[in-house]
Amino acid sequence: MDIKERISHLRVLIKYHSKRYYENDAPEISDFEYDKLFEELKSLEAENPEYFDPTSPTQRVGGAALDKFEKVKHEVRMGSLTDVFDFDSLRSFIRHVKEEVGEDTEFSVEPKIDGLSVSLKYENGILTVGATRGDGNVGEDVSANIKTIRSIPLELTENVDITVRGEVYMPHSSFDKLNKQKEANGETLWANPRNAAAGSLRCLDSKETAKRGLDIFVFNYQTGSLGEGKIETHKDTIEKIQKLGFKPIPMLAVTSSEDEIIDAVKKLGEDRGSLSYDIDGAVIKVNSLEKRREMGEGTSTPKWAVAYKYPPEQKKTKLLDIVVQVGRTGVLTPNAVLEPVKLAGTTVSKATLHNIDIIREKDIRIGDIVVVQKAGDIIPEVVESVKAERKTQLELYKMPECCPSCGGELTYDDAESFIDDGEDFTLGALRCTNPACPAQLVRNIEHFASKKAMNIDGVGGKIIEMLLENALISDPADLYYITKEQIASLERMGEKSASNFVSSVETSKNAGLGRLIYALGIRHIGEVASNDLASKFGSVEALYSATVEDITEINDFGEIMARSVVDFFKKDTTRAIIDKLKAAGVVMEESKKELSSEFEGLTFVLTGTLENMTRDEAAELIKARGGKVSSSVSKNTSYVVAGEAAGSKLTKAQALGVNIIGKEELLKMCGI
Ligand code: NAD
Repeated sequence: MDIKERISHLRVLIKYHSKRYYENDAPEISDFEYDKLFEELKSLEAENPEYFDPTSPTQRVGGAALDKFEKVKHEVRMGSLTDVFDFDSLRSFIRHVKEEVGEDTEFSVEPKIDGLSVSLKYENGILTVGATRGDGNVGEDVSANIKTIRSIPLELTENVDITVRGEVYMPHSSFDKLNKQKEANGETLWANPRNAAAGSLRCLDSKETAKRGLDIFVFNYQTGSLGEGKIETHKDTIEKIQKLGFKPIPMLAVTSSEDEIIDAVKKLGEDRGSLSYDIDGAVIKVNSLEKRREMGEGTSTPKWAVAYKYPPEQKKTKLLDIVVQVGRTGVLTPNAVLEPVKLAGTTVSKATLHNIDIIREKDIRIGDIVVVQKAGDIIPEVVESVKAERKTQLELYKMPECCPSCGGELTYDDAESFIDDGEDFTLGALRCTNPACPAQLVRNIEHFASKKAMNIDGVGGKIIEMLLENALISDPADLYYITKEQIASLERMGEKSASNFVSSVETSKNAGLGRLIYALGIRHIGEVASNDLASKFGSVEALYSATVEDITEINDFGEIMARSVVDFFKKDTTRAIIDKLKAAGVVMEESKKELSSEFEGLTFVLTGTLENMTRDEAAELIKARGGKVSSSVSKNTSYVVAGEAAGSKLTKAQALGVNIIGKEELLKMCGI
């Protein structure tokens, strides 16, 4: 691969992972790996300026604001930080700053909290807007959710107009509690406290956010008035911020001594494991506000600060066993069972070994002392085995010869790529070929019922296992034939859960064609591709006769994806499941088929949180009737649909005399 190709490959890869991280709150690689890719791109771009591209991820901050929230334009741009990964680079930064703005320049050292950045705006001392960083210029209005965080004052001790910036995070205790609940409900666990915090702050239901135990450290004064008192340094602002009622970022040192700065950063690194929250580095900032102004800002980061990123924490422990798990697509993943060890704040007893290639390459054997690290993922990984500590002859590890779940035949499979929906991208993956494999069946049905698929609330791994054990289901379509009585007869399932189960299953019948296609779990076909297929073909019936040529007409559909769809719809087992779903009343057509024109010429604006309905769902209802959905209110707006905690759009609609309706009226207008 030449340099140009490598640059463009890295840009695609980084954009993909940024989206997973910032917008979907579901990273697939560790921060450490991401940082390595980012650094490589940055240095290649610096060495080869002829390939400069303003849309490169190095020129941008974070992710995009999601449509499900109203957008907020930040008065002061919310930038990122330049990273350094070793003390030499940190010393160079300090020297460079001193050369620019004076030898006596002081720096502050603070923990870099691993959460998500928010801005908090107060008018006359009252909290008016809380927003996420988004792309740095435009964020998401999450005011209703922000107000549920107890350490964020709703009213300040002085009546000032001020905007501050802080990091919302999830303490370890809240994270452990949340994931335990998720595990008990058979739901997918949050990858790490950072993603859990981001997901929780961006919930559509603020009652849900309130339960998540989020917290904040405020680390910057953005704009406005700090009230009475002399404010010349960052330290002054942080002290004032505390007086106003905020929980300020801990200041670990304020000094002009290079050695003292390094010592403070080292000490924080040593204390890292005992903190009650995750940090991913230390932030070193110029203390004087005047000197900061003198130095100014770069494209997306200030010139007066850097983030020192710690290498992932590593610990040694004993590898007690290797257990193999079978995933939805039949891929076998070896996992390490470890002697429990405390790592980055949590106790670790299992770690991923990824695949057999890695076990072979690193020569990892049961009984070895291994080095484990937690690099941002919930399941830590085994970095290496310590050969010097291998005192006795240990057996070479071999993967099972047949599927550990069903005894079925296994094959090696080489043609995977990460773009294909994350799950089975590992080269050399070992796969169980038995379509009726129980382990795969559980994962398949779990996927079918999952939020992004048929969204059948409360149908997680545990219930599915129980249903399979009791022979109540043998494929996803059977979910639609279970009665309330059958559910109620299961262990620990009462009348109420049985009713909820049946009603969630019933609601899911109208999930729509895109979700149905995604739920069927066709290899290489993710959420976006499923929706594209639904739009192009309009019905399951049409997909039965779709050819590879027809499918590759869709943008971004390659031969492998198209062939996978064609093969899937050719299978007898597919037809059997589809027929069963159809007979149960599951909608098999794209809702566009029912497009009507009752709302033609009408423009709607959606604002606030609608009860039990996302703004996307409300927009779908409107568009299906020929109406337009706009993001801003003007005198041409026909209706503003306002939910709970509606903000400035509602005020504007009132001022312009635009019709304001609620969710119930919208449903009535839609004839629902
Ligand atoms: P960043 O996290 O490296 O630094 C900027 C952020 O630090 C600010 O937005 C601020 O919110 C936060 N911060 C915390 N404490 C602070 C303090 N005391 N002072 C100032 N700021 C403080 O930059 P970023 O752009 O938010 O994210 C990039 C990082 O995110 C990467 O380095 C990577 O580790 C991670 N990431 C990971 C993936 C993945 O797939 N794993 C993808 C994208 C990004």
